Amino acid sequence: MSQGLSKNDRRRFEDKLSKIIRANETMLGYPLARDFDYSEILPLIAYGLNNIGDPKVESTSVINTREEENEVVDFFADIFRAPANNYWGYVTNGGTEGNLYALYLARELYPDAMVYFSEATHYSVQKNLHLLKLDSITIRCQENDEMDYEDLEEVMSQHRHRPAIVFANIGTTMTEAKDNVATIKNILKKLAIRQHYVHADAALAGTYTALVEPHHPFDFQDGADSISISGHKFIGSPIPCGVVIVKKNYKERIGQLIPYIGTLDTTITGSRNGHTPMFLWYAIKKWGKEGFLQRAEHGMELAKYTRRKLNLMGWKAWMNPNSLTVVIDKPADELIAKWQIATQGNMAHIICMPGVTKEQIDLFLADMLKFYGSRVAPISVN
Ligand SMILES: *Cc1c(COP(=O)(O)O)cnc(C)c1O
Repeated sequence: MSQGLSKNDRRRFEDKLSKIIRANETMLGYPLARDFDYSEILPLIAYGLNNIGDPKVESTSVINTREEENEVVDFFADIFRAPANNYWGYVTNGGTEGNLYALYLARELYPDAMVYFSEATHYSVQKNLHLLKLDSITIRCQENDEMDYEDLEEVMSQHRHRPAIVFANIGTTMTEAKDNVATIKNILKKLAIRQHYVHADAALAGTYTALVEPHHPFDFQDGADSISISGHKFIGSPIPCGVVIVKKNYKERIGQLIPYIGTLDTTITGSRNGHTPMFLWYAIKKWGKEGFLQRAEHGMELAKYTRRKLNLMGWKAWMNPNSLTVVIDKPADELIAKWQIATQGNMAHIICMPGVTKEQIDLFLADMLKFYGSRVAPISVN
């Protein structure tokens, strides 16, 4: 194979690669699955795939993966119980774009709406609201980071003359708390705010929350108008990506026919990644609902194990129900650096994403024990 890199640059590349491989072994704090293997479809990397424009409308550019993209959209529409003949969606560059798209739709429907979102909402949402020039109010959270519905009702009642856009979190970034879309819909009904829109930001937890029992109310049947996920988080992908599903009749309000590309310009970006839909398509074919559920259950068990072990050594650790995230008191900086643990104030978390092994957790626990030794006293195990 002819190489384009000089000897020096080749060495730099190899250093980079081994650094990444090493860091990948000790990453517990960020929600990125690492058990994926897309080698079977790797020949596609030799081609410049571009799904420009609306995935439902054929483009004059044929080197694309629209067909598979639509199958990915169908899969998520199914698990999110979208209305059979009234959904639309596409593969995005990630959760942020999905949220932006949903808020954009909501704003086109209700230009003078007020947006309500909880204080545990992902940092990117503020930026989205700013881009869209939407007015918003932050709602308090309960102890577990779930939206405080009493505060929501109180605040919304003061602005009931305006349409409401409620931004619900299905797995907050720090603690994986899930807002209840059915409860939110009930409050909207009680306040008789008929012009409303509910978006579920299910970036982290959407895929498995749709599959685990008991059912958590967040999908289209429960009252969501749109749902978005990140593809590189729970499913896993070498390139960041996501999926957004919306009601088709809402989407038809935007997008114009662009003769140059011969398709509708309904998506946020023009050119769109043609490789990421193939990764998601492959994962769906390989794992299916059953496989996704098993991966999630494995992670949830591992998370419970981690919480129990930490509690036994006297370290504060807790979890929201059916989650992969163990919320812990922030450990020492050297442990945070080594295990790449995300922190917020005095809080930190370990996320047992698919690909995190019991061996890695045991090594982390051993590091904790070595560092803190007997300085921590056992606390009651829950
Ligand atoms: C990760 C995350 C996002 C942003 O998703 P990206 O894929 O990083 O753009 C938004 N909301 C929540 C709750 C997230 O966890």
